[in-house]
Amino acid sequence: MPAPQAPANSTPLIPILQQIHTEAQALFGQGQVADYIPALAQVAPRQFGMAVALIDGSTFATGQAHTPFSLQSITKLFAFVLALKLEGEGLWKRVGREPSGAAFNSMVQLESEKGIPRNPFINAGALVITDILTSRYAHLDIAMLGALRRLTDAPDLSWNGHIAKSERETAHRNMAMAYFMKSYGNVLNPPELVLDNYCRQCAIEMNCAQLAQATMFLAHNGQDIDTDARPGEQFLSPSDARRVNALLLTCGAYDAAGDFAYRIGLPVKTGVGGGIVAIVPGRGTVAVWAPELDAKGNSVLGAFALERLTQLTGWHHG
Ligand code: GLU
Repeated sequence: MPAPQAPANSTPLIPILQQIHTEAQALFGQGQVADYIPALAQVAPRQFGMAVALIDGSTFATGQAHTPFSLQSITKLFAFVLALKLEGEGLWKRVGREPSGAAFNSMVQLESEKGIPRNPFINAGALVITDILTSRYAHLDIAMLGALRRLTDAPDLSWNGHIAKSERETAHRNMAMAYFMKSYGNVLNPPELVLDNYCRQCAIEMNCAQLAQATMFLAHNGQDIDTDARPGEQFLSPSDARRVNALLLTCGAYDAAGDFAYRIGLPVKTGVGGGIVAIVPGRGTVAVWAPELDAKGNSVLGAFALERLTQLTGWHHG
C-alpha cells in the first residue's frame, strides 16, 4: 500500500480514520465471533482494521488493515457479479432482487416462493448463483480466485482450507436448502458439488486494503482503476455496476439492510467473518473488519466505523 497522502478531495482521511479507530475500540466485547462454523470461533475477537481506497488511486488505512480475514458472505458479491456477466438478465429467472427481511440462512420463504430465493446475497440465493457458476466452470475456485487475484493484484490470494473444511462438515442447513431448491428444479448440479464450491468460495481470505481495491470497479462505473501492476479495465458495464450497488444498498446486510441504509446509507456487503465493504459511488470504497458480530451476523465495530465515516466525511449514496 502506498504511504498515506492527502486525498484529492482534501477530506482529512488520516485523522478521521485514526479517530474512528480510537472510538471503535470502546465497543470491543459488545458482539461475539461467529461460532456456527467451528473454525471461525477460533478467530481472536478484539481486532479492528479499516481501509479506504479512492478512485484517484490513493489509499488510507488504520489498525489491522493488512491482516487477512475470512470473507464469507462478502464473496457473494463477487460470485453474483461473475454470474451477471455470464448470464445477464436471464439470471433473474432463478433468483429475486428483493430484500428478504429474514436471517441470512433462513429457509422460510423458499417453500411459498417455490424455490426461488429472494436475492443473491442471502445463503439460498448464493447457492443458486454457485450452481449457475458450477455449470459454467469445471474448477470454479480457480476461476473465482483468478478474477480476485487480478482485481487485488495479489497473486497469492487463496481460500483457507481449514475454514472451508470446517464449514463443509457443518453445512447441514445450506445442504438442506440446496436439496430443497433442487426439488423445485432451481439447483441443477449435485448439491454436494455446489456445497463444495460454496464453502471454498466463502473461505477466501483478503485483508481490508485488498477488499477495498477489489471492489473499486463498483465505485467507478464498472471500471477498475489503473494500479502499479496493470492498467484498469471495464470489469462490468456502468449500468450493471449501478444495479449491483442498488442491490447492495437494499439487500447487502441480511435482515439489517434497512438499518444499514438508515445509519450508513451506502451500498454494503457484510460477512460473518466480521468484514464489511461499502461502496461510495464516484468516490471510492471502504473495507472494515472486526470479528465480533451482532445478533444478525453483522460486525458491531464495522457498522459503527462506517456510520462514523459517513458522519465525518458527509459521504453518501448517489
Ligand atoms: N459461509 C457462511 C454461511 O453460509 C456465510 C454466511 C455469511 O457470511 O453471512 O453460513
